[in-house]
Amino acid sequence: MIARFERLFGDGVTGQPIRIRPLGGEPPRPSLRVRRIEIDPGVRRAKVEFQDVAFDGNGLVLVVIRRERVVRLERPTGKEQNANDDRIAHAGIMNLSLVFEQIRAGGDRNFGYLLGDRTAGQAVLIDPSYSPDAFVERAREQGLAVSHVINTHSHPDHTNGNERAMGLTGAPLAAHPALRPAVPLNDGAPLIVGNLRLRCLHVPGHCSDHLALYEETHRLLVTGDLLFVGKVGGTSNDADARTEWNSLQRLVREIPDEATVWPGHDYGVRPSSTMALEKATNPFLLCANVEAFLQLKSSWATFKKDHGLK
Ligand SMILES: [Zn+2]
Repeated sequence: MIARFERLFGDGVTGQPIRIRPLGGEPPRPSLRVRRIEIDPGVRRAKVEFQDVAFDGNGLVLVVIRRERVVRLERPTGKEQNANDDRIAHAGIMNLSLVFEQIRAGGDRNFGYLLGDRTAGQAVLIDPSYSPDAFVERAREQGLAVSHVINTHSHPDHTNGNERAMGLTGAPLAAHPALRPAVPLNDGAPLIVGNLRLRCLHVPGHCSDHLALYEETHRLLVTGDLLFVGKVGGTSNDADARTEWNSLQRLVREIPDEATVWPGHDYGVRPSSTMALEKATNPFLLCANVEAFLQLKSSWATFKKDHGLK
């Protein structure tokens, strides 16, 4: 079977082929893709964590099922051999450092995230909300110490797991200064997680204290309730909607197309997206100007009906 290093959440190993032969068990289905791989180049074995991928024509990774398997790495043949082999192995090892998991937290299809650096043994929990124990357990299982509990914004369905998560880990809260956290995150503030660097963007609109979190190396954008797949966060008046428009335009300007988008709720046709895909398909990002955006917001129910959206 031919497996590929998946474009693992925007990492630079995109498309590098690697041949992987299962040592036993059922043959992997064609939809299985490598999610995480731990390589021992010396003995050329690897523990590979696969995930099922439902292809949507845009090459997006949909986290559905994960399973682990020990495989033997086969050297590339022919012209590909040479340094390619080492480069692939190196890319795989570099890739190992990243831990990024989208976790269904309950509530109203809430998503939270575990983001960590395996090498440094450090991680942060983002909006553990309804399932703090599950988030902490997931970090523990992977040998990661939680350095911060982060909130994207102050709405209770994102903050309600804070106390429990902090109690279990001893980690402080990091959030917009309005939440009075132990670690205030102002716009532009960097938050270091091992070798990862999260940049905080203050993106008000849905909520005045809203942050988006951007990991630059792997190009992961956690958007909370500002930007959903195919939708945007709710606002209660025109002023907030205008503010939200400005925040969305900021993402469009500052975040590269290939960045993957990780929202705070599973409201779209898929659980994650990319900036390019949202720019091309999200009706709210396709608006020509703020007036069109306001118009779409006020007529959203009709628009959804007309376009067969849920
Ligand atoms: Zn919210």
